[in-house]
Amino acid sequence: MRSVVWILAILFSARAWGAMFVLPTANTALLDPSKQEQFFVGTIGRPWTSGQFGCVRSEGRKFHEGLDIRSVSRDRRGEPTDPVLASADGTVAYISTRAGLSNYGIYLVIRHQIEGLEVYTLYAHLSAVRKGLRVGDAVRAGEGVATMGRTTNTREGISKDRAHLHFEIDLVANGRYAAWHATNLKGMRNDHGNFNGRNLLGIDPAAIFREQARLGAGFRLVQFLQSRPILARVAIRGGQPPWVRRYPQLLVRNPVAERDGIAGYELALAFNGLPIRIAPRSARELTGTGKLQLLEVNPAELAEHPCGKMVFKRGQAWTLLPKAQELLDLLTY
Ligand SMILES: [Zn+2]
Repeated sequence: MRSVVWILAILFSARAWGAMFVLPTANTALLDPSKQEQFFVGTIGRPWTSGQFGCVRSEGRKFHEGLDIRSVSRDRRGEPTDPVLASADGTVAYISTRAGLSNYGIYLVIRHQIEGLEVYTLYAHLSAVRKGLRVGDAVRAGEGVATMGRTTNTREGISKDRAHLHFEIDLVANGRYAAWHATNLKGMRNDHGNFNGRNLLGIDPAAIFREQARLGAGFRLVQFLQSRPILARVAIRGGQPPWVRRYPQLLVRNPVAERDGIAGYELALAFNGLPIRIAPRSARELTGTGKLQLLEVNPAELAEHPCGKMVFKRGQAWTLLPKAQELLDLLTY
């Protein structure tokens, strides 16, 4: 009887935490350090390392926001046939079937609730989305949702030998992205509403899979996120930004602000601008004037990840680059 209770407790806790992410194709070489070359596909003429997440493109200056996962099954003509699997339980959030509208080609986005956190996974360059699959449909982890392909709108295209799934795990910057885009990026088309790549802030899926493999059921996504290195801290004066309402799990407590009243928020940003920790601040704790203030930069993290285009040292002073200003504007819109 006691063991039954135990098993139930374990099952229940796994469910309560939304379980874990599963690899989105049958390619499992990621978890074997000697087989990375069999997992990742590099860009044209570049080694496999350029298929990883991070500052892996153009000598470290360009950001690749996902994993390029190599095809492991092909038809007679050499086209990829790998089933693409939902990486966690969730709901289909977006399907784009017109390959010409994005460098993602045909792509699919799934919404998940993991530890209460609203997380999205994105599957790109598909040949097709599963027939009959619609936005709003519930899917289970490991369920087939699409087929790998080579679709993209870039001029160079994706050759057969480079066939891969581009896979992302993201948080969403703002639920009103489409409206923000219409006012702030006039003249730039937005065919994808809130599921425009600019509104999705990536987390390294490989780091998540490896940490899950290390910790098993002890893996916690929020803990993982908040243990990422911080590039910079910024303060935003004023009321609660929508980001804070959307991701209250990332809030850390501040008894001073709780007692004296909250006059603004401090955001700790990862190298790509993803805010991984949010702390309320009292008026007394907010020095300086202006709505937005750069408080601190971690030069070691900038050297490690130089492609975020968030901060720049002008003489002795650090400044926020336009991309960071734009992102912070979106986060507070
Ligand atoms: Zn990619």
